[in-house]
Amino acid sequence: MTDPVIRKRVFVGLLAGTALVVALGAVGLYYAFFGRSIVARQLVVFGLLAGAGTLALVTGVGVATLVFSIWRGRVGRWAAELAGLAVNGLYPFALRLGVLLGLEPMRIQQSFIAVNNQLVRARQLRVAPDQLLVLVPHCVQRSTCPHKITVNVDNCHRCGRCVMTELLRLRDSFGVYLGVATGGTAARRFLDLYRPRMVVAVACERDLISGIQDAHGIPVWGITNERPHGPCLDTCVAPARLEAAIRMFVRGICPDTDPDTG
Ligand code: SF4
Repeated sequence: MTDPVIRKRVFVGLLAGTALVVALGAVGLYYAFFGRSIVARQLVVFGLLAGAGTLALVTGVGVATLVFSIWRGRVGRWAAELAGLAVNGLYPFALRLGVLLGLEPMRIQQSFIAVNNQLVRARQLRVAPDQLLVLVPHCVQRSTCPHKITVNVDNCHRCGRCVMTELLRLRDSFGVYLGVATGGTAARRFLDLYRPRMVVAVACERDLISGIQDAHGIPVWGITNERPHGPCLDTCVAPARLEAAIRMFVRGICPDTDPDTG
């Protein structure tokens, strides 16, 4: 497994690169048009420059906050939100820049998730058990299982043929909520239903990233699923990784495992 610090560096580097490209774009605009344009054109160019300059500033401050949080392991709520804004807003640009530089998209996605988790961890949030929602994709259910657990997780008969038995055991022992989502709409329905302050989500890289970006301010700790049979079929997650994440965020429980390595 890749070193988690190196994984974070990929995305942080791409964000810094994006900030540099935007800043260079602003300078390029200035030299290309500003000096030799008529007044109206100058105003348009000035607007573009102001936009690019603001974007470069937000990106730069966001990246600086991110680096600070990785370095210190702790950051205030507003700083985390600013860094989160830069990370989420610039993700599409960083992804394109990374692909242009020849990086594998999945490596960039994993790096984004590691950076997101770092920001969530740095906020040092602690919530009550009933404020934490564990969301897993329906593909963790054994594909031959006839029980409809997306409607109600308690329809699972806990036969032990898939990870649901363990997930329900975790839910019951910690008192957190558990939802099995068929997609983004179902995930949002769970957010509306339980109104959690914190989400621990399991999914593939792509779905995790859209979930993190759709959560509208609710911190999401992302755990990528294991896919021994390919995407979306009989996937799995190590219960120990979920347990470690729950222990980290539920008030009054001391973490004894690092969720990145658990
Ligand atoms: S543990 Fe058994 S009953 Fe429950 S979802 Fe998996 S296969 Fe179905």
